[in-house]
Amino acid sequence: MLYTNAEQAAPAIAACVKNKRHILLITHVNPDGDAVGSLLGLGLYWEQCGYEVTMLAPTPLPIFTQRLRSADRIKVYSQAPVYSNTLTLPETVDLVVLVDTGDVQRIARIYQEQQAYLAARPLIIIDHHATNSGEGLINLVDPSRSSNCELLYELLKAWAAQITPEIATALLMGITTDTQSFKTSNTTPSALRAAADLVEAGADRALIMRDVYSNIPFETAKLLSLALSELKREGAIAWTHVTQVMQRSVGASDDAAAEVTDYIANLGGLKATALFKERRDGSVKVSLRSVPGIDVAAVAQRFGGGGHRQAAGATLQGPLVEAEQQLLAVLKAAVEEAPDA
Ligand code: 5GP
Ligand code: MN
Repeated sequence: MLYTNAEQAAPAIAACVKNKRHILLITHVNPDGDAVGSLLGLGLYWEQCGYEVTMLAPTPLPIFTQRLRSADRIKVYSQAPVYSNTLTLPETVDLVVLVDTGDVQRIARIYQEQQAYLAARPLIIIDHHATNSGEGLINLVDPSRSSNCELLYELLKAWAAQITPEIATALLMGITTDTQSFKTSNTTPSALRAAADLVEAGADRALIMRDVYSNIPFETAKLLSLALSELKREGAIAWTHVTQVMQRSVGASDDAAAEVTDYIANLGGLKATALFKERRDGSVKVSLRSVPGIDVAAVAQRFGGGGHRQAAGATLQGPLVEAEQQLLAVLKAAVEEAPDA
């Protein structure tokens, strides 16, 4: 069943959850603020209702989310538990819920290694990506929402849920980061209202601002300077890359490249930007951003990726130079087809 509206989906999701005992919440690989906020916002609520809840990310959390009071409740998936913060999938789970995950394959190794486990349990998907294929038993996919956290707020409201300051902080983190602090075109009246309601419910706005925006690691700044020195432009498109050598030379973390994506997305006079990030395995992650009128989700989909019309991503085969050439050709065509954007 596919719902595109939280109010309509609320009774169906509540009915499905009602007779369950142990809920496993999973989000996407390389989780961002919206992914972490979604796990905590919904996870803490269900815990409050008396369910056993396991919150799981396929890969470690970004640094800026780690100081959220309950962030250590989120475990990182491991096929066999290795460190105290890693976890394999508990047998007692009787419901799996994917949040902020546009495609089941975006849970990466959990998808590849746990097919039987996942197939044996009902699946609910709650997401805001237009490219979501809706593979759950119940799917709530509302692409009009700025963030998955805004969608979850609507769902909690429909359930007349008690929103604690901790839940409010988590949800506000997602809305703030997915709208790039209320700058992107999906900053709708409803997103702003949700944010206002969450501040009223006790969300720690100052903590989010400090941790997300005034906490950039020194190594990330060095990486940004390397990436910007390689910035290229052709017409209304600008792009650059981050190689493994660049990343290692300054000791930057894997999520540092996101800062480069954000920086170039804010340049004026452009219609689309691309950051090409070489991964350890040689594959290339591209992060695309665009102005309204240019659909980069469609560009990403041509390469097996997806996302939103103005912010999307995909993984390409290396080497880097070839990946750049292939993707830029498609991106240029998309920009040329929309001269009025
Ligand atoms: P980012 O460029 O920041 O990694 O991602 C931008 C948006 O595109 C996010 O909403 C993210 O979930 C989505 N996205 C990024 N990479 C992929 C991908 O490989 N597949 C899909 N389906 N979505 C992606
Ligand atoms: Mn999101």
